[in-house]
Amino acid sequence: MTSSIEPVLQGVGHTMLVLSGKGGVGKSTAAVQLAATLKSAGHRVGILDIDLCGPSIPRMMGVEDRDVLTTPDGKWIPVYVDEEKRLSVISIAFFLDSKNDAVIWRGPKKNAMIKQLLTSVLWDVDYLIIDTPPGTSDEHISVMENIRGVPVLGAVLVTTPQMVAVADVARELTFCRRTGINVLGIIENMSGFVCPNCSECSNILATGGGEQLAERTNVPFLGRVPIDPSLAHCTEEGVSYLEKFANSSVSKVFWAVMTKLLGSESDEMEVEN
Ligand code: ADP
Repeated sequence: MTSSIEPVLQGVGHTMLVLSGKGGVGKSTAAVQLAATLKSAGHRVGILDIDLCGPSIPRMMGVEDRDVLTTPDGKWIPVYVDEEKRLSVISIAFFLDSKNDAVIWRGPKKNAMIKQLLTSVLWDVDYLIIDTPPGTSDEHISVMENIRGVPVLGAVLVTTPQMVAVADVARELTFCRRTGINVLGIIENMSGFVCPNCSECSNILATGGGEQLAERTNVPFLGRVPIDPSLAHCTEEGVSYLEKFANSSVSKVFWAVMTKLLGSESDEMEVEN
């Protein structure tokens, strides 16, 4: 086990957190799409999946059956998703005995694992996206406690447009402000449905809640991601949506989100202790 003075996230250029107020709003999907978009822009990207509530990134990226290799000095080599080795992932899911196991580790073991994930991976990436547990639960706080002091660009908050989800993300925003995490902006996911036949967008759920919250709280609004059945299908099958649907509305939104995020690099800061 590593000691707490071991440097964290070595080999990483910039780190971003992806947060949500509750589960099921598309936080992990957004993390995967952002990573794929950054890669398509020529960057080397990693995802660190420490969503203890449901580590789903390996499945979404089609690498759930792969093993994490260890170097002779005990460092973990991230699992590469592509042959060019520009997209890699480390997930808590790789360390569970079976893919149907829940993370039932208690306090010290869980904290030790998170610390090890932050200090023992041989990253070589321009950007690292950390997928965290949703909400402000014990799990979430335990992860956030462990990443104090890690230099991060900031957090991207993901919500669906309905007011119930927005209320949860508003609490998350307060949490970020109290803990000194820079908020890079809000993504409103599942915002409208683009008909695959006529390309018309129908607002089958409420819409605009995330954008209103961004305005009200003075944080950047990063974009509205429509519901796209092909996106759900690709994440289910573990295939790259961006490669298959490069010109879709969703891919264009993520390209715009990435462009806005990269404009924030000059504001990089450390999470306060
Ligand atoms: P979270 O990480 O917030 O729990 P996920 O990213 O696992 O949520 O998404 C939950 C489900 O919703 C997944 O099945 C995913 O494929 C689907 N999903 C997320 N965003 C969209 C979208 N914009 N269009 C269609 N399906 C989506």
